[in-house]
Amino acid sequence: LDAISKTDATICSFITVDADQALAQARAVDAHIASQGTEGLHVLAGVPLAIKDNICTQGTRTTAGSQILRDYVPTFDATAVSKLRATGAVFLGKTNMDEFGMGSSTENSSYQPTRNPWDPERVPGGSSGGSAAAVAARECAAALGSDTGGSIRQPAHFCGIVGLKPTYGRVSRYGLISYASSLDVIGPMAHTVEDAALLLNAMGGGDAHDATSSGQPPVDFAAGLLPVESLQGGSRPLAGRRIGLVVETLGEGVAPEIEGAIRAAARHLESLGAVVEEVSLPTFGLGLPAYYVLALSEASSNLSRYDGVRYGARAPGAADLPSMFSRSRGDGLGGEVKRRILMGTYALSAGYYDAYYKRAQQVRTLVQQEMTAALSSYDALLTPTAPSPAYRLGEKSADPLAMYKGDLMTVNVNLAGLPAIVLPAGYMAAAGAAAAPEGGPQLPIGMQLIGRAFDEAGLLRLAHVYE
Ligand code: GLN
Repeated sequence: LDAISKTDATICSFITVDADQALAQARAVDAHIASQGTEGLHVLAGVPLAIKDNICTQGTRTTAGSQILRDYVPTFDATAVSKLRATGAVFLGKTNMDEFGMGSSTENSSYQPTRNPWDPERVPGGSSGGSAAAVAARECAAALGSDTGGSIRQPAHFCGIVGLKPTYGRVSRYGLISYASSLDVIGPMAHTVEDAALLLNAMGGGDAHDATSSGQPPVDFAAGLLPVESLQGGSRPLAGRRIGLVVETLGEGVAPEIEGAIRAAARHLESLGAVVEEVSLPTFGLGLPAYYVLALSEASSNLSRYDGVRYGARAPGAADLPSMFSRSRGDGLGGEVKRRILMGTYALSAGYYDAYYKRAQQVRTLVQQEMTAALSSYDALLTPTAPSPAYRLGEKSADPLAMYKGDLMTVNVNLAGLPAIVLPAGYMAAAGAAAAPEGGPQLPIGMQLIGRAFDEAGLLRLAHVYE
């Protein structure tokens, strides 16, 4: 809490800081230790966490970054949150995000922009930018994010932390405020692969409240990591592992320093014993337009619940029901959200359904088949996370299409429902940064490893060896 009060005036990671609750949770852990010692304490007991503000927390305001939910205090915990609460983890508060997860820079928050701790003139990425910045600025030990098309991974890349997008269905979506239900997933954002594994251990599992959650048996992801001692002294722990470097994610349009860092990561993986081969996925580039049709179509339906009656702040003074609906939505929803509802409604309309929605579903199947086929000959696929490092505030906010294009390397993973992890893979000079101190300001670069469905254990093990 002290770190937040020192740092957050500049970084603005949090929408809500819940000091009373955090202290009460911490005192409960202290009381347990006073009476029974550390016996029976969960490994996460007392660990201070931040939670993205689209994940429901009982008794703590949950806004999804939107004015329409400015007064929404859930009466229940999301399943991921109730599972963490049961461990004795401490919840510091709720982190800033693009409104309803719609964005890649956190500038679409209706509350505040969040700043990148590496360079406060730059964005932290998005939509889980508040969680990423809070972890990077050491305002919390780890955080929860959500990922519909890259919102855990791209901010992890921009802020130099670890972000894990679990397999679709690994973590219950119950209590996650929906953006696009067939793509959304909750996941951990942390300093290390092991921390991410510990959080996934606590959050994962089937849930009667989410019919799309999977009943896959629980795995101890942290116990599956190779002991650090076994990774020293020139050992080749990745012998026999095969990794595909996706050529469509390199070359034109990608910052040369990022391509360089990914190729260096590939060589490092080889030095650890892995075979790294270039692999071509010809449908890779089709994912982005398909994603934006499907995500917006689902969003246009999901967001119809914010009408000032079922959910959301009601605009005062309307003469009749239709104007009450339209005024509440008009006042409560931001510009990007409205743009997306319009586009999604258009794509789903009777005259255009076959041309857009149906076609995008067909592309989704192709992308999924091609990635799954590649993962039958490779243990994991390696790509950059985004074409550029963190950019300046305002640099892309006036050009939605430029912002959408930055999601090219992450959205396919959601279309295919696969797990993927982003972890630090180097640094680059911040081009054009003013007043460069000795050596110049640096920006982090994150690499993305994509794994087989429900093989988070293998993916985390690989990432941990690299780390
Ligand atoms: N940037 C992507 C979008 O705006 C992904 C966001 C997300 O994963 N929530 O849709």
